[in-house]
This record gives sequence, C-alpha cells and structure tokens, in this order.
Amino acid sequence: MHAGQEPDPSTGAIMTPVYMTSTYVQSAPAQHKGFDYSRTTNPTRVALERNLAALEGARHGLAFSSGMGAINTVLNLLKSGDHIMAGNDLYGGTYRIIKTLYEKLGIASTFIDTTNIANIENAIRKETKLILFETPTNPLLRLTDLSAASAVAKRHGILTCCDNTFATPALQRPLELGCDMVAHSTTKYLGGHSDVVGGAILCNDTELYTKLKHYQNAVGATPGPMDCFLVLRGTKTLHLRMDRHVENARRIAQFLDQHPKVERVYYPGLKHHPQFELAKTQMRGPGGIVSFELKGGVEEGKSFASHTQLFALAESLGGVESLIDHPVSMTHGSIPREERLKAGLQDGLLRLSVGVEHGDDLIRDLERAFASLR
Ligand SMILES: *Cc1c(COP(=O)(O)O)cnc(C)c1O
Repeated sequence: MHAGQEPDPSTGAIMTPVYMTSTYVQSAPAQHKGFDYSRTTNPTRVALERNLAALEGARHGLAFSSGMGAINTVLNLLKSGDHIMAGNDLYGGTYRIIKTLYEKLGIASTFIDTTNIANIENAIRKETKLILFETPTNPLLRLTDLSAASAVAKRHGILTCCDNTFATPALQRPLELGCDMVAHSTTKYLGGHSDVVGGAILCNDTELYTKLKHYQNAVGATPGPMDCFLVLRGTKTLHLRMDRHVENARRIAQFLDQHPKVERVYYPGLKHHPQFELAKTQMRGPGGIVSFELKGGVEEGKSFASHTQLFALAESLGGVESLIDHPVSMTHGSIPREERLKAGLQDGLLRLSVGVEHGDDLIRDLERAFASLR
C-alpha cells in the first residue's frame, strides 16, 4: 500500500500527484532534479515503479504502457542468432510477437510444455538466451515449477522471465523462486478495475535493469501519469481483492466440480488438479480464474456464456467484476481446431474471471446459465 509513495512534500497530499508534464525546467543546462523528459522518467511513474518492485520483492521496477510493451522490452534483450524458449500455452499476444516479429529478426523460438522440467532441459540449445514462463497458464491453469525450472536455466546461463499476470505478487513471487525477471500486464489484477492498460518488468540485477531501462526509453512504450496513478490506486487493495477473488473462485470451482452438466473443472485449488501440491508450495492461493468444460460442445458453450448476467461476456480478466469467456470462439479463436484440441482446449470450455461480488450471487448466476441448457 505504501511502497514508493510519500506524502507530497510541497502540500502534504497523501495521494501521489499526477504529474501531467512532458518536460521539466532546468536551472542551467543539464542541471535538473533527476527529471528531464517524461518518456525517460516521470515522478508518478517512479512512484508506481517503486511500488511494483516492492510487491515483487524486487530491487528495480519499470512500468510500460501495456503488458505487451513490457514483454517486448524483455525480448529486446535478444539479438539475431539467439534462441528463445517459451511455454506452449502462452498468452496469444506473446506468441504472436515472437513468431511474427522476432522470428523475422533471426531469433528462433521453441514452444514447449514447461510443466515438465525434462522438456526444458531437452530443448536447450547453445544459442538459448531466454526462457519465458507463464504459470498458471491461460486458460487451462497448468503450473510450472519455477524453482526447478529456473535452476535448470541458471545451470545453462540462460535468463528467465515469468509472466506473473495471473497469480500476481499477492499469490506468487517468482524472483524469490529464482527467476531473473517478472513481467506483468497491470491491465489485469494489479490495476484491478478494468479502467487502464499497462505493463511492468521487475528484476534484481542492476546490470539487467540498466539494459531494460535503456530499451524502455529508447522504444518509448511508457505509460502516461494518469495510467500510472490508476495502477497505483489498484495496488493499494490488491491483497484484499485477491483474498476475495480466491475465496469466490474456490467456492465456484467446488460448485462446478460436482455439477452434472460439467465434464471437467480446471483449478489449481482442487485436489484432482495435477499440480495441486505444487500450487500449495509455490502459490499463496490458487488464484481467481476457473476454467471448466461443459458436457457438449461449441453450442452449449456459447449458450451458457450468453445466459449469465453478473458474469459479463468479455475478453480480459482480473477486474473486480466477474467475466466469462468462451475461449474457442473468443480469446483463442485464432488457433486452428486441430491444434486447439491437441493442446486440450475443448469446444465446450469456458473461462471465468471470478470477481469480488458476493459468492451467493455468482453461484445463482451460474445456476441460471445451467438452467438455460437443454
Ligand atoms: C493480458 C495479458 C498480457 C498482455 O497485456 P496487455 O496489457 O493486454 O498488453 C500478457 N500476458 C498475460 C498473461 C495476459 O493476461
């Protein structure tokens, strides 16, 4: 709540001022108070960067205008001839930028199931420079053992970055588990109110930070001060919101798990989740996203998703309000059906971003949608 923020010294204002300025007056050429141009640095952004660093237990933080802006900056560390490895159910935008932009620049990539550490070991080449993890993944909520995976990478001198958007530092702190970098889409839980798009990178190594900061300024995908203020306002209640997201998600996962019209529930807090034990040691809670497969197919999935009221039909996740997504026709629609099924994305799969509403209301809403199915 408090990290990176002090009452404004000139007025005592308890909230960080929104420094709407592009430039800063200098008393003599190159004589300034640490701020010369707002792409390079801005006091509201500095407060956010310190705040996010504290949340992840990091020495350094960098804020971006989107999660993709942050991930792109991590990828800027690579050069032609390098090889990158990443999870095979990565966020679609991350997969897209690696395939359509970085491949063209001569950076090879391999996408593997990182939930099995042996796969990582086997896919390492001498050109491998970076491994990108997402845990839990979207939408099947598979986990990667970050301690084991980063130990393998370290042994081979490979940098690691964990996209911690789904868990948030309230539930999982990848730097403490050995990762070199953490990336975030602050658009999701950190912002938490579906009113801002943003991103961040956190790390401990000062040399690494210096490089990333150089790319941040050189590329310019930096957030405006109002956006920084909104994320900063979000993080003040992150711990409270995550507690409620987890409480509601647990209850809903259990409700769905014994429902006759449900084929299968994916939630790391359920005992039958293949990584239930890992979730308990690696995470402080199983998170606020629950995925489940309806009996039936595309039609049932679409019908269910159109019959909830509190669960709004929308892409994105992590806000206070509950959302429902039918991945096959929405967020993951661009993946060919064959490939999709191979990856375990069934036609009747639904993803819930469980909000912080009253749990009874959410269950009632789901019951209504079940009743709409024939
Ligand atoms: C949304 C998301 C991103 C991309 O972030 P934007 O803020 O939309 O650019 C990256 N990774 C994960 C896991 C996400 O959910």
